[in-house]
Amino acid sequence: MKVVRTVDDARAAIPSAGVGLVPTMGALHAGHVALLRAARAENETLVASIFVNPTQFGPGEDYGEYPRDEERDLHVAEAEGVDLVFAPSVDGMYPDGFQTWVEVEQVARGLEGAARPEHFRGVATACLKLFNIVRPARAYFGQKDAQQAALVEQLVRDLNVPVEIRLVSTVRDEDGLALSSRNALLSSEERATAIALPRALSRGKLAFASGEDPIAAARAVLDAEPSLGVDYVETARFNGRVHLLAAVRAGRTRLIDNVLLEGSL
Ligand code: AMP
Repeated sequence: MKVVRTVDDARAAIPSAGVGLVPTMGALHAGHVALLRAARAENETLVASIFVNPTQFGPGEDYGEYPRDEERDLHVAEAEGVDLVFAPSVDGMYPDGFQTWVEVEQVARGLEGAARPEHFRGVATACLKLFNIVRPARAYFGQKDAQQAALVEQLVRDLNVPVEIRLVSTVRDEDGLALSSRNALLSSEERATAIALPRALSRGKLAFASGEDPIAAARAVLDAEPSLGVDYVETARFNGRVHLLAAVRAGRTRLIDNVLLEGSL
């Protein structure tokens, strides 16, 4: 496995065809591994990027605290058959004078976009840059970040980016909590209360299946856990899929999750 840190080295090392890309912010867990395995199975060359993208963090968010463990990540990537890791520096991605941003309009509004105003501009810009640097035939995103996946699908469609976007189901811990790099920031008490999030979403999905209001059902479960702050519980339709989505705060850590109510990935 090769590790490259500059755009020029990435361009020189990555073949021009048969490439699958898994973009990540590192602190790799079994959710990332599911993306790597899906990509490994379908592409001749597997590229993973590891970049904690500062432009998708707002002021006062957890950019500084975001978990980073490159040595461990490189072992995980190597074990999953990654051919090349692109781990650029912040200056390499955003050199002095950088001034071009990608704004996806409607998909970026509401939900995470309402809570984190510049988040999706940062995500869209970083993803388009990665697509242009790596030039993958396919790129892999998790259902866990459903609005982000829909935003990338929209960006690729609107700007005719020659990449196929593939979505992978959410990987969860045994108790249902969706795996997330941010779970490492939870205290054990916060970790215990956080499972109300997947429970609420499952309850909402059951309610929906029996013709009841999924939002009210999910809210009732979250409201019974007063130490969780609820940012939103909403449904949204993305590309023919209907999701029930929620964001909560456990202490200083913000967690998001969603389940599919209609459609498939
Ligand atoms: P991140 O490193 O958190 O930016 O995530 C990188 C990619 O992994 C994104 O496409 C995420 O949606 C995906 N991902 C994160 N957590 C999970 C999970 N628990 N299951 C499946 N995919 C995930």
